[in-house]
Order: sequence, then structure tokens, then C-alpha cells
Amino acid sequence: MGRLFGTNGVRGVFNKDLTLDLALRLSYAIGEYFKVRNGSRIVLGYDGRYSSPLLADVVSAGLNAMGIDIYNASLVPTPCLQYYVKRLNYDGGIMITASHNPPEYNGIKVIASDGVEIPREDEAIIEDTFFSEKYKLSDRLGNEYSINDAIDTYIDGITALVDIDAIRSKGFKVVVDLGNGAQAVAIPKLLKELGCKVTMINEHIDGSFPGRGSEPTVDNLNELVSKVRDVGADLGVAYDGDGDRSVFCDSTGTIYTGDRSGAILIEHILKNKVSNVNVVTPVNSSMLIDMIASKYNSSVHRVKVGSVEVSRAMLKIGALIGLEENGGFMYARHIAVRDGAMTTALMLEALASSDKRLDELNGMYKRFHQYKTKFQLKGDSSRVIEELSRDAMNRGKRIEMIDGVKIWVEDDTWVMVRASGTEPIMRLYAESVDENRLRYVVTAYTEKVNSILYR
Ligand code: MG
Repeated sequence: MGRLFGTNGVRGVFNKDLTLDLALRLSYAIGEYFKVRNGSRIVLGYDGRYSSPLLADVVSAGLNAMGIDIYNASLVPTPCLQYYVKRLNYDGGIMITASHNPPEYNGIKVIASDGVEIPREDEAIIEDTFFSEKYKLSDRLGNEYSINDAIDTYIDGITALVDIDAIRSKGFKVVVDLGNGAQAVAIPKLLKELGCKVTMINEHIDGSFPGRGSEPTVDNLNELVSKVRDVGADLGVAYDGDGDRSVFCDSTGTIYTGDRSGAILIEHILKNKVSNVNVVTPVNSSMLIDMIASKYNSSVHRVKVGSVEVSRAMLKIGALIGLEENGGFMYARHIAVRDGAMTTALMLEALASSDKRLDELNGMYKRFHQYKTKFQLKGDSSRVIEELSRDAMNRGKRIEMIDGVKIWVEDDTWVMVRASGTEPIMRLYAESVDENRLRYVVTAYTEKVNSILYR
């Protein structure tokens, strides 16, 4: 049986891997999946890519042909659609987006009635229906309705969960880099409600992502950094193409990794809102998270890399917080999916309630050093993982095999190697409280991986 779903929905180059024909047949299979679960009301949304309205039309028609009613929210950030499905008790949702992928890509994400992407095993059910064509077109056709309150519902949901008065009283100066992406329809309005003085860059939605590309990285946020310094902003923040991830920059112009900004948010939530909770994060994020959680009687659950793994684990164990090192942050009181707008509101609340600058909040975490690199994969990744884990065990090192292999070189130093879920590469992550030890470990393991790959 073939596979359609990758790490985050069905993705591919539009008109090549992902054609309208495939989208139509896939929507029949998705329709069948919802129908057998008594789902008849589905919310549809799409991002700002050029091919998104075309795919949305076809998916809507396909689901209508299966007898399902479509509630079309049009262009919205992914978390906005997810929140709307959950908040208004729809049977599910479909989001047309390829998130941070280049412009020629697009994708179809299937959302369950809880607002979270459907579980992996349900993706397999849809794939099976797709390839076997076991769907029954309906005699009763569904309708398409337009909805126009998705963005307001989303913003109201976010502002209800933060101390608006405290944030407003600060009159924060914020620079946002919208990356020509979908958060451009929600973030300006949210920040206005939070009383911020906002400077925007790349705020025009454009499917070619002409500003700085669709993925915010440490290397392409120069404009954000210089604008933050120019206007003397309290905070800078950049979003990815569909607005679920947010990357922060402090007033000095330093860009934060997602687990660093996430650690600051966790400390804020546990200190000021609620303690004794569960936190879910992939096995490759900073040990700083464990340190903060234990300080507030909270526990950390480590899962495989991937936002769906984090979200689904959060629902399973009833976790309040989830986070990823790439800038995905989940706050379950809102919804257990990553959400760039909710995360921004929480960060502003953290600054307001602490009365400190972001770089001051970061100060106490500075002793954690991280490193990340990648290798082109030749052949089978499992050989690399096997040899590294065997070698580590022979040397009496503790290992974890949640995703690839994580080796504890010392109590405060680890290195992890895993195969990417989306590209033919292997990734290496490492962290230590000692910068020299980190450098040594990275050099040693880079050599080890290369010697196995190129033997
Ligand atoms: Mg995204």
C-alpha cells in the first residue's frame, strides 16, 4: 500500500505530485472517513499560496459529492481553522497549506473534531480507502456555506486567556515579520487589541513569499533584527507561511530557538498561571525544559519529533503545554496545537507580568549551549543509528531510542542523531552546559556519522 501522508498532511509540488485530480480522489476518501464517523459538517480553510484556492475548490466539490456540507472560512492561519473546528463543535476540518515549504508546494491537512490533526492510524485508513477506491459517492449532495467569523472567534479565544489589562498597560512596541503568510489576517488585529504599537514587515500575503521565504530561521530574519533595533522595540516575532510557528527576537536583536523561547513561556505559565502540569516535547529539545518543569512540580514527557506526535500525546495524557525546538508552542487551554498568535500573546503576557525584558528573562538560561547540523543520507539510516547505539552502550553510556538515538555523553551533555521524516538527510542535535564539551562532542559524533555513511 502506498503512502500519501507525510509528517504534516499530504504534501507535494502542486500540479506535479499534488494534482487537482489527486486532490479530488483524496477528498472522496476523506469524505468517506468522516461519513463513517457521522461527520457531515466540515470547516475548510487555506493559506496564501497561489494554488490554495484551486485546491480548496476541488476539495469542497469532492466532499459535497460525498454528501458533506462545507463551511468555507477562506484564507486563515492553520491554528485559526483548528480552533474554530473545536470551539464551534464541527465534525472536522480541512486545511490547504504546505506550511513553511517553498512556493511551488501545497498540501492537505485533515483535522479531527478536537481541532488536532487526525492520528497517524487514521491517516492509514484514509490512504487505504484512497488506494482501494472504497468510497461511496452520495445521492444527496452537500452544500458549501461561507463563514466570516473565524478570525474574530480565534482572536477572542486568545485574548480571553491572557491578562489583557496588564499587557495593554505596557504599550509594548512590537515588530512583526509576517513573512507574506497567513497570520497577516489575524496578528495585526490581535496586537491592536493588546494595545501594542506595531511595526510590520512582509505583511502583504503573497504565495511566492518574496520577503524572506516562508520559513523563519536564524539566518533570514536580518530585516526583523534591524527593525527591532531601529524602532527600539520590546519584541520582534516572525511567523511561518501558515502561522502556526513563531520565532522571537529580543530588544537587543538576538533570535531565540523555539525551545529557548518556549522555556521562557513555560516558566511564565508555571510561575504565574498554574503549576503541577504535564509538558510534552520531542526528545531533541533542550534539557532546560526539564529543569524548569521540575522547579514547579511539573513533569516532562518526551516524544518523537513532529508536531502531531506532541499534540496527540498532550491530549492523551492531559498535558497543558507542548513545544518544539523549531518554534512550535502549544497551550491546551486554547488548543493543543501549535499557534503563532496564542504564543505571541503569552510572550507579551510574560514580559508584562515579569516587568523584565526578554533578554533579562533569558539571562538565567544562558549556560545551556545547543548545536544542530545535518548530513546528506547515503543508503539506510538505520545502520547509522544501530552502530551509534551499540558503540554508546559498549562504552556504558545511557541511550534513549524514542526517535533515532539520543546518547547521554555526560549527565549534562547529550547528542542525538535521527533521520528526517521529510527529506533524505540525517540530523544531529547536541546540548551541553559546557561550551567546550559541546564542541568536542559535536566534532567526535560528526566524524563517527560520516565514517559510517561513507565507509
Ligand atoms: Mg506551519
